[in-house]
Amino acid sequence: MGAVGRFAPTPSGRMHLGNVFAGLIAWLSVKSKGGEMVLRMEDLDTQRTSSEFAEILRQDLLWLGLTWDRETLPQSQRAQTYDQYFDLLKSKGLLYPCYCTRSQLHSVNAPHLSDGTYVYPGTCRNLKEKPDRLPAWRVIVPDRRWQVSDWCQGEYTENLSTDCGDFVVRRADGVYVYQLAVTVDDGEAGVTEVVRGMDLLSSAPRQMYLQELFGFPHPQYGHVPMLLSEDGRRLSKRDKDLDLGVLRQNMTPETLIGILAAAAGLIDKPEAVSARELSREFSWEKLKKEDICLSHLTY
Ligand code: GLU
Repeated sequence: MGAVGRFAPTPSGRMHLGNVFAGLIAWLSVKSKGGEMVLRMEDLDTQRTSSEFAEILRQDLLWLGLTWDRETLPQSQRAQTYDQYFDLLKSKGLLYPCYCTRSQLHSVNAPHLSDGTYVYPGTCRNLKEKPDRLPAWRVIVPDRRWQVSDWCQGEYTENLSTDCGDFVVRRADGVYVYQLAVTVDDGEAGVTEVVRGMDLLSSAPRQMYLQELFGFPHPQYGHVPMLLSEDGRRLSKRDKDLDLGVLRQNMTPETLIGILAAAAGLIDKPEAVSARELSREFSWEKLKKEDICLSHLTY
C-alpha cells in the first residue's frame, strides 16, 4: 500500500509559521515516498471556524506549493458518521455519561499531572443518581501502556489510565471531540502517516486506543518541533505579523520554505527552494528534534 499523509488544518484564521512548518514536513514526508496527500478541514468548532477561512487556507497551501490529491468532507458535515462510531463504543459497553462540571474537573482535589492537565478520576463511572441535564460521554480506558514510535520524537509511552483517565468523546452539547473525529477521519481516509506539531504528541495514545477499538491500523507518527518566537513562546494565531497574510506580501514561497528548511536542518543555508525540490532529498534523520527558535531566522 502506498503512503497516505494528511493536512488537517483548523480554519479559524490565517496559517502561522508553525502551521506552515508542520504542513511542509507532512508534505515532504509523504511526497518523498511518492505517496498521496489528503486535505481535511477540522471545523468541529463551528463558532470559531468558517468556510471563508477554509478557502484562504487552501489558497495559502497552493501558494506554498503544498498540493493535495483529494479533500475529504469537513468535520462539521460528518456528525452522522461519528454517530456510528459512538454507537459502536456504546455497544461495547465502553461509554458512560459524565455530569462533572468544569469547576469540579479543575478543582484542587482532582489529580493533576505536572503539565497542568488533569487525570479524570472516574467520578461518574458508577453513578447511581443522574442529574437532570445532558451529559458528556467518556470512554473507559484500559490499564495498559501505549507506545508511540515517533519519527521525530523517538519512543513515547503513556498509560491512559494513569496519565489521562477516561476521556470525553462527545460533549454535552452533542459535538464530538477532536480525538474521536480525527481517529475516524484518518482511519476512513486510509492515512498511513500522521505528521503534525509536537504539541499533539500526547494525543497519539488516545487516538491509538480508538483506532484499535474502531478496527483501523495504527499510522506512523511524526511530531515535528514547535517554532518559538524570540522570547521563547510557541507561535500561535495571535502572532499576526508572522501569519501568511503578512508573509505573502513580503516574500516568495521559495524564500519562506528556504528559511524554514534551513532552520529545521534540511538544508545548510536559507536559500530559496521549492517544496518539490526539497522532497527529492528529504529524510527524517536530517530534521531537528528540538524546538526551533525564530531568532535564528534571517529575513
Ligand atoms: N486541526 C489541528 C490543528 O490545526 C491538527 C490536528 C491534527 O493534525 O491531528 O492544529
